[in-house]
Amino acid sequence: MLKTNTLLHNISLKPYNTFGIEVVALQFMEIDRNSVLQEVLFSEEYPTPLLIGGGSNILLTKDISTLVIHLNTKGIEVISKTENHALVKVQAGEVWHEFVCWAIDHDMGGIENLSLIPGNVGTAPIQNIGAYGVELKDVFVSCQALDLKDKKEVNFKKEDCNFGYRDSVFKRNKGRYIITTITLELTTKNHNKNITYGAIESQLNQKGIDHPSIRQISDAVIRIRKSKLPDPKVLGNSGSFFKNPVISMKEFNALQKKYPDIPYYAFGEDHQKIPAGWLIERCGYKGKRFEEVGVHENQALVLVNYGNAKGEQIWQLAQNIQKSVQDKFNVYIEPEVNIY
Ligand SMILES: Cc1cc2nc3c(=O)[nH]c(=O)nc-3n(C[C@H](O)[C@H](O)[C@H](O)COP(=O)(O)OP(=O)(O)OC[C@H]3O[C@@H](n4cnc5c(N)ncnc54)[C@H](O)[C@@H]3O)c2cc1C
Repeated sequence: MLKTNTLLHNISLKPYNTFGIEVVALQFMEIDRNSVLQEVLFSEEYPTPLLIGGGSNILLTKDISTLVIHLNTKGIEVISKTENHALVKVQAGEVWHEFVCWAIDHDMGGIENLSLIPGNVGTAPIQNIGAYGVELKDVFVSCQALDLKDKKEVNFKKEDCNFGYRDSVFKRNKGRYIITTITLELTTKNHNKNITYGAIESQLNQKGIDHPSIRQISDAVIRIRKSKLPDPKVLGNSGSFFKNPVISMKEFNALQKKYPDIPYYAFGEDHQKIPAGWLIERCGYKGKRFEEVGVHENQALVLVNYGNAKGEQIWQLAQNIQKSVQDKFNVYIEPEVNIY
């Protein structure tokens, strides 16, 4: 165990990123108190620090010379509870899935479809995490953050966050706001269950469940995710490496003429969302291995580290994929993962 709230030097970041990339933080602090976090971040000593939560949405391509902070603040507080709802405030360093389990144990609903998403609570708003028809924004009320530009504490209400598909004000102002707590509104009765997306319903049917509890929905999501996604503890990865591109109707119609079987989902009134995995698979990358790096055999959106990959090699593969998709389909696919 590393000493907390203390400046350390030359620490390997391999245990702190799910790609399992070996790079070194020249300066490193594990922080478990918000007062220490604020003191460090507002001092002039450490410009542009790099925060790491669960390290499940980052690709480290080089040693990091600025201060790396692993945030480990803990605590879950029920602020208020009515007959139907509870307001719950959670510290940024809590592990997201552990919090989901806590909510289910307390019969609080709304986040069961987000079971088993890796990472921490404080990072969940950054890309408005989402899965199986639910996004964080559906239960989000507010969050507290430290503004590194104006050196002050700020409170963001949901409407200030500009949440979008894997997007938020925090993602668009990368590195400026460090989230310290989030507050969510969960249901305590009459849960709004969402089982129509993906394979949840068929999973429940297989078990003969007609009226699932939120725990049964969570269990179904966990089973599906375990069967589909590689476990980063076994095979280094960062989930979906790219966002699904959103294109205009005009661009879509041109593509559909050429590729009549192209899958798509309506996005707003005049755009379509195309699965990036399909585009990548059509470029011939699915299951391809290039020495220590590759594209997962079942999920073309997932890039993997077979053991000793360097971050640069993964980034190079990602750029080759981007170029192939651009050349073949004239579509830009944007990384979902944060590159450092
Ligand atoms: C196997 C796998 C499956 C995944 N499935 C999904 C999925 O279904 N849906 C989905 O949305 N995502 C998914 N992801 C992506 C990832 O789990 C989420 O993006 C998650 O919210 C990242 O959290 P983290 O704590 O690991 O972030 P990190 O990787 O630690 O950090 C992400 C970014 O946030 C910054 N940051 C860290 N802490 C803070 C803070 N407190 N305040 C401000 N900035 C901060 C970092 O500097 C970095 O830029 C998956 C990833 C993996 C590996």
